[in-house]
Amino acid sequence: MEASAIRLDVAAAADAVALHARPSADYAQREQRARALLRQAHAEFGDALVQASSLGVEDMVLTDLLVSEGLPVPVAMLDTGMLHVQTLALLERAQRHYARPFEVWRPDADAVAAFVAREGDTPMYRSVELRHACCALRKLEPLARMLHGRQAWIVGLRHEQSAQRGALQARALDADGRTKFSPLLDWTLGDVWHYVALNAVPYNPLHDQHYPSIGCAPCTRAVAVGEDQRAGRWWWENDGAKECGLHVAPAAVSPRSNASTGDHA
Ligand code: SF4
Repeated sequence: MEASAIRLDVAAAADAVALHARPSADYAQREQRARALLRQAHAEFGDALVQASSLGVEDMVLTDLLVSEGLPVPVAMLDTGMLHVQTLALLERAQRHYARPFEVWRPDADAVAAFVAREGDTPMYRSVELRHACCALRKLEPLARMLHGRQAWIVGLRHEQSAQRGALQARALDADGRTKFSPLLDWTLGDVWHYVALNAVPYNPLHDQHYPSIGCAPCTRAVAVGEDQRAGRWWWENDGAKECGLHVAPAAVSPRSNASTGDHA
């Protein structure tokens, strides 16, 4: 199955702010709670704290909140080698907008080359096992390096995104015992876009093309009106999980790279 072959009966591109920005009645309190949690996270963990960003809209809101609070928390992203050009362009735009470099963590080039030589460019469509192998190689292994030596991370999960995320806590321990903060857990999609509108937050133009959740290009599609917010992720799989393991259990780490700002192969 090729992603380009997927055709959906979705509306034409529309401004995501106009489409979604609808604050909850208690939006102001939600924003204050999110800010308080970010301040608390930084006060408690200092340099051992990182924001893991996909550059999706929730993560852009979190980066904006961190900057507006004056919290010098590094922003780190995974460049899997399979991202949309729009996502890579947003990386450049966001770094300019916030006048701070983001950390970019990449998979092991030799391991990727061997995997592609053996399985091809898009093995994820052939089996769930190959999809998980690709995610392990391109996401989980560099994530483990990103988190190595750090005690806490900030992520953009929201209860509303999926049934699997409905029971999460705003502060929790991950499988490796790190503290994971989810300041936007109780925000609605309308709250997120309301913040974007109020603060002119840069965002991925794919959100204007009905991509509520943006991952790797071969594994993300637009969603139709009324579909689940993560329905466009690994849409050909039917187990309903819609997760790649980033928020389950980071892989074992080989500490061959430190956490300085810049590119991390
Ligand atoms: S989301 Fe798709 S392309 Fe990206 S790492 Fe997972 S299987 Fe590979």
